Amino acid sequence: MLRITELKLPLDHADDALRPALVERLGIDDNELLEFSVFKRSYDARKKSGDMPFIYTLDFSVRDEAALLARLANDRHLGIAPDVSYKPLTVSAEQHPAQRPLVIGFGPCGIFAALILAQMGLKPIVLERGQEVRQRTKDTWGLWRKKVLDPESNVQFGEGGAGTFSDGKLYSQIKDPNHYGRKVLEEFVKAGAPEEILYVSKPHIGTFRLTGVVATMREEIKALGGEVRFQQRVSDVLIEDGQLVGVELESGEQVLSRHVILALGHSSRDTFRALHRRGVFMEAKPFSVGFRIEHPQSLIDRARLGKYAGHPKLGAADYKLVHHAKNGRSVYSFCMCPGGTVVAATSEPHRVVTNGMSQYSRNERNANSGIVVGITPDQDYPGGPLAGVELQERLESHAYVLGGSNYEAPGQLVGDFIAGKPSTTLGSVEPSYKPGIKLGDLAPSLPDFAIEAIREALPAFAKQIRGFDLHDAVLTGIETRTSSPLRITRGEDLQSLNVRGLFPAGEGAGYAGGILSAGVDGIRVAEGLARALMGEQAN
Ligand SMILES: Cc1cc2nc3c(=O)[nH]c(=O)nc-3n(C[C@H](O)[C@H](O)[C@H](O)COP(=O)(O)OP(=O)(O)OC[C@H]3O[C@@H](n4cnc5c(N)ncnc54)[C@H](O)[C@@H]3O)c2cc1C
Repeated sequence: MLRITELKLPLDHADDALRPALVERLGIDDNELLEFSVFKRSYDARKKSGDMPFIYTLDFSVRDEAALLARLANDRHLGIAPDVSYKPLTVSAEQHPAQRPLVIGFGPCGIFAALILAQMGLKPIVLERGQEVRQRTKDTWGLWRKKVLDPESNVQFGEGGAGTFSDGKLYSQIKDPNHYGRKVLEEFVKAGAPEEILYVSKPHIGTFRLTGVVATMREEIKALGGEVRFQQRVSDVLIEDGQLVGVELESGEQVLSRHVILALGHSSRDTFRALHRRGVFMEAKPFSVGFRIEHPQSLIDRARLGKYAGHPKLGAADYKLVHHAKNGRSVYSFCMCPGGTVVAATSEPHRVVTNGMSQYSRNERNANSGIVVGITPDQDYPGGPLAGVELQERLESHAYVLGGSNYEAPGQLVGDFIAGKPSTTLGSVEPSYKPGIKLGDLAPSLPDFAIEAIREALPAFAKQIRGFDLHDAVLTGIETRTSSPLRITRGEDLQSLNVRGLFPAGEGAGYAGGILSAGVDGIRVAEGLARALMGEQAN
């Protein structure tokens, strides 16, 4: 297979224009081209005032590869396509453990860990505290529509994990020499995600499609001999002489296994505490706090795409912003959701925390993102592994009170926030947060240094995105669950530093920061578990 990069076609090109363009670019007859596929498609938004073409990378094969390579030897955009396929690890039947491996949590990390274990023939048992995705969707809407929270079935907990009600962005900057990321995307497509996620530069799936995808993946795991049990909260771990021997469920039932993948997500605070009580090694790590900001999507499109704003092939525009504030803090945009909505994302009673989601179409009126400030244990929450969790809890409880103690969120207009005065009425931007926001002053909701840094950052961001400091843009508080506040540290063999057989993984353990990286970590840890089995057999 050969690869050609930098093949440019106008945004409006016809669906069947790629083949003739490739043939022309290569200078061959059409019948010499055997097959081709799109490896990547992107566009350069910096060209918004001139021509802004789609830029393609295509993989293809021709009748006479050697002749083509010889003729175009000086073409630096042409070469052999590197192999990006995932190479599965095989585990022989003799290496299967006496007890089935367990996977705790069925978010993207647990899903991919379980899928890979199942594909290896290891028949994992998944224990998930929340509900299966259909019931979970109803429960989640219960908070958004009726202010009724189910602490075990919500935006954070249940089949599909935290990313199920999300924009479903699938990009990450992790190093990936084993092409685990490609495997994640291919499995998502097999389970019903749009095929374009394999090649567009910033793929996303969107909430409605994600829910179907996770249910299909669950059935695939079961078809391979795995088991997926819902409403099974792991409340304790059983450890003998530094070796994990099983877990205990809230019901009191014990499930025995010497190989357990712990894919809890960042919101399982009760489980973090239980692990800490048992002495499982963990340490506090940095995370970020801030607000969600909402602008009209049309404002973002104009600023990012110029004359191409609203072009149907480009869809709603995104952005990524960073500002280094005078007080030494960094402020950045987080989890930007074009054409999306701000969502209530608490999993605990009497707390308020926000996040964002979009549908695949990304056609809601507003764009939103977290505007957050990085904080660290050394500077901001000294006091042990759970100090970050405690800080999150304090901030989220206070936000609940500021919002009126009924799951509405505290909010403020950007102009008022910058001027330091409370908001009393909404302007031209209608906030999307359900069940609603209570306007006022957001300054008391976060530490002073964070407020100061965000106040400075918003006008600075307007230099990159014209109108970002729009007076009527809305800030909704607060964003605290940007990543896990702790790390359940693991060694090179991917097992806990002090409990053999326990494989901490994904976002909750501090090893992932999004759907794709969590899926990738799930594969990595499933392979780590398989290697441990092989090692045990060899000894
Ligand atoms: C609203 C929202 C929007 C987001 N948007 C995006 C996005 O667009 N793109 C992106 O890349 N990321 C996004 N994220 C982040 C992304 O969802 C997470 O990074 C990712 O889901 C982490 O995967 P995980 O499997 O490690 O953990 P999680 O997805 O959190 O899954 C953990 C699972 O473990 C279960 N669990 C926890 N404790 C126990 C226990 N004791 N016993 C049994 N089960 C337990 C939970 O119920 C949960 O299902 C978003 C998150 C939210 C909340």
